[in-house]
Amino acid sequence: MEIEDYINEKTVINDKNYNKVKDLIICLICQNIIIDPLMCMICKNTFCKKCINQWIKRSPKCPIKCKNPNYQESTKKTEILSKLKFKCNFCNNISEYNAMKNHFFSGCENFKNIKNSLEEKEKPKKDKKFQKIENKKGILESKYRIKSKK
Ligand SMILES: [Zn+2]
Ligand SMILES: [Zn+2]
Ligand SMILES: [Zn+2]
Repeated sequence: MEIEDYINEKTVINDKNYNKVKDLIICLICQNIIIDPLMCMICKNTFCKKCINQWIKRSPKCPIKCKNPNYQESTKKTEILSKLKFKCNFCNNISEYNAMKNHFFSGCENFKNIKNSLEEKEKPKKDKKFQKIENKKGILESKYRIKSKK
């Protein structure tokens, strides 16, 4: 699960507000609502911190092709984002942008429970596989024992 699963167009709940600011807060790289906005100081476009960090590895220019870009945190975009509200897909918790980020990072309890129950379901499968290997080993060993007795 990534932070994008908690903060996206589908989890935003104050739609009217969102539609007004939408064009300002969509990352041109990932097309999702920006997480941790960083602004190119030349073209003034904003991107997710994570997206820009990956972009820098591939290109010395900004995504809009500015040369020698300098990226800075965008307080204006952060403020716009902080007014949006999101609904957690896993527990129906409704939080503002920053609180939803915390909700993801501190771990949604319900998501943890879902994850645990999925892992519980996986367990018997693994045991069965192991049992099969053990059985095969047992058959081989008993065959060998019979042979060696002769
Ligand atoms: Zn992005
Ligand atoms: Zn730029
Ligand atoms: Zn939750």
